[in-house]
Amino acid sequence: MFTDSHCHLENKRFDVDRADVFSRARESGVTTLLAIGNGDGPGTGTLDCAIRLAHQHDGVYATVGVHPHEAALAKQDDFDEIERLSKSPKVIGWGEIGLDYYYDHSPRDVQQQVFLHQMDLARSAKLPIIIHCRPSDESENAWDDVLRLIREQWASSGLGGVLHCFTGSVDHARAALDLGFMLSFAGNITFPKLQNIRDAAAMAPMDRMFIETDAPYLAPVPHRGRRNEPAFVVEVARQIGELRGLSGDEIGRQTSENFRRFFHLPMAAAQPAE
Ligand SMILES: [Zn+2]
Ligand SMILES: [Zn+2]
Repeated sequence: MFTDSHCHLENKRFDVDRADVFSRARESGVTTLLAIGNGDGPGTGTLDCAIRLAHQHDGVYATVGVHPHEAALAKQDDFDEIERLSKSPKVIGWGEIGLDYYYDHSPRDVQQQVFLHQMDLARSAKLPIIIHCRPSDESENAWDDVLRLIREQWASSGLGGVLHCFTGSVDHARAALDLGFMLSFAGNITFPKLQNIRDAAAMAPMDRMFIETDAPYLAPVPHRGRRNEPAFVVEVARQIGELRGLSGDEIGRQTSENFRRFFHLPMAAAQPAE
C-alpha cells in the first residue's frame, strides 16, 4: 500500500490517458493520492482542478493555493475564490505555496507577500500548508527565507505542514522537523548526484516522512527522463527502504499511515477502494 503525497494529475500531459494512469496506480498498490490544486494559476479557471479530480476518484484528496511561480498574477478575487474552495470536504491542505528563487517567475518580494498572505488564509481555514522551496544555484537563500517565515508566521498555528520534494541538507531537514513539518521525498532521491536527499531520508524519523512523485515531473530511476506518474512512487519507497534496511512495501505502509495520521483521515482498509 502506497500514498503519493503530491502529484499534478490535472496536467495536460495526462489528458491522453488519465484513466489508465489511475488504474496503473491502483495496480501498483497506490491507494491514496494528494492532487495539488495550483492548476495553471490565477485567472485561468483552473484553481479547482484538484477538487474536481478528488470528486471523481476515491482515495484522491485535494489542495488549493497559488504557486510561487504565479504569485504576481494573484488578485483579491483569486484569494476569495481559493478561500471558498478551501471549504470543499476533500480539501486537506493549502499548497503548494512558498518561494522559488531558482526560476524567479515572480519577483521575490511578491512571492514572500503571497506566501505570507496564504499562511494567514490557511490558518483561518485550519489547513496545514504544503511548501515548495527552491533556492537559486549554489545558494540556500530560499531555505533561509522559507524556514524564517514559517518560524515567525506559521509555527504558532500548530497546524504544521509538508516540505514537498525535499531537496535540502540534513540541517534544513532538522530545522523543518523542529517546526513540526513532515518531509516528503520525491523521485530525485534516486538521482546519483543528490546524496544530500538520501542523507536527509536516512536521518529523518520514520514517522515524519511522506513519499511523492510530483508527477508529471521528476520521474525516478529507472523511469528518469520520461513522464512521471503516481505508480512510480514505489521506486521512491524502494530507495528509502534501501537506505534504512527495510522493504519498499514497509516504507509504503509506514508513509501511508503517516499521511493518514497527519491529515486526520480514517486509517485505510487493506483493500484498495474501487
Ligand atoms: Zn513544487
Ligand atoms: Zn508540485
